[in-house]
Amino acid sequence: MPHSTDAKLNKPMADETRPLRFDIHVHYLDEPSADNGVVVGPKQRLHPFTLFMRGIRFLTCAKPFPEILARELDSPMLDRAVILAMDGCYRNGKLDRKNTAYYVPNALVADFCGRHPKALLGASINPMRCDAMDELERVAVMGTVLIKWLPYSQGFDPSEAAIKPFYRRLAQLRIPLLIHTGPEYSLISNPPRLSDTSVLIPALDEGVTVIAAHSSLPDSVFSRSKAEFKRFRVLLDRFPNLYGDTAALFGASRVRQMDLLLKDDMVRSRVLNGSDYPIPQLWRLAGGKINREVRRTVSAQKNYFSREYLLKKELGLEESFVRPATVLRLPSDSPKGDIERGLNA
Ligand SMILES: [Zn+2]
Repeated sequence: MPHSTDAKLNKPMADETRPLRFDIHVHYLDEPSADNGVVVGPKQRLHPFTLFMRGIRFLTCAKPFPEILARELDSPMLDRAVILAMDGCYRNGKLDRKNTAYYVPNALVADFCGRHPKALLGASINPMRCDAMDELERVAVMGTVLIKWLPYSQGFDPSEAAIKPFYRRLAQLRIPLLIHTGPEYSLISNPPRLSDTSVLIPALDEGVTVIAAHSSLPDSVFSRSKAEFKRFRVLLDRFPNLYGDTAALFGASRVRQMDLLLKDDMVRSRVLNGSDYPIPQLWRLAGGKINREVRRTVSAQKNYFSREYLLKKELGLEESFVRPATVLRLPSDSPKGDIERGLNA
């Protein structure tokens, strides 16, 4: 029987006595095949990140992606993971393959989530697709716990007036929007302004719960400007419906900027744990923040999500693993929650 979202939330698997630990930012980056519907656009195929990940898979004779992800999710330190689909670019309402980076269908990720007891669906819908409203209703029924946007790569401007009905429906359904902020070096991209903190405002104005992926942390590779992070703080003050996440905290572009988040009590109290799996964890660059004993333990730890938990616990971010339970759209909010509960009891 498929695992319903509701059953997943009611049955902790690792330790019944502690609150559930979540990771809200896990990518499903499968390779295209005859039956999975995944698209890697022609420009993205030549992107260094794609070549790097393919090289690693080749050199390690890696198993198929869903098998690897399922094995990583076996971590006893993580209870639930939001697995993210990825919508593409659209032109005149139709998928624009040429300019799409990755397209990972919602149905494919929903199928994986149906087979894995810890996995929760994080659907992705480009609001410019002609069936965006219908797709939103579909994924709501499928139990999505959030909607993921990457305007920077998906090539749309969240301030477009045409998106308003989409925001209003999200607010009605109480489905949060996880919107990328800050630098992005893994994907082909559009104008950088589409990753500015201002992309969060139109949804917040319509009463949608918004999670700023990466919490507007600055880029430590090409620019160290803290202006966007400061804007994020101002918005946190203004909108109680705004949160951030800690995705890619150990990634190359943010690992040297994490003090901004760690030393700010207000930001710390509003962040949700996200890893950005399978982004490589360059935690050794965090230097003296990780004590020697933890460094030894993490070095010996083979599991990605266990490493993420051990490192973030050391940084004092343990609460961020538990907080998503109060922010995600969990089954009691679902329009057919009762029916699902009955069917899957
Ligand atoms: Zn991500």
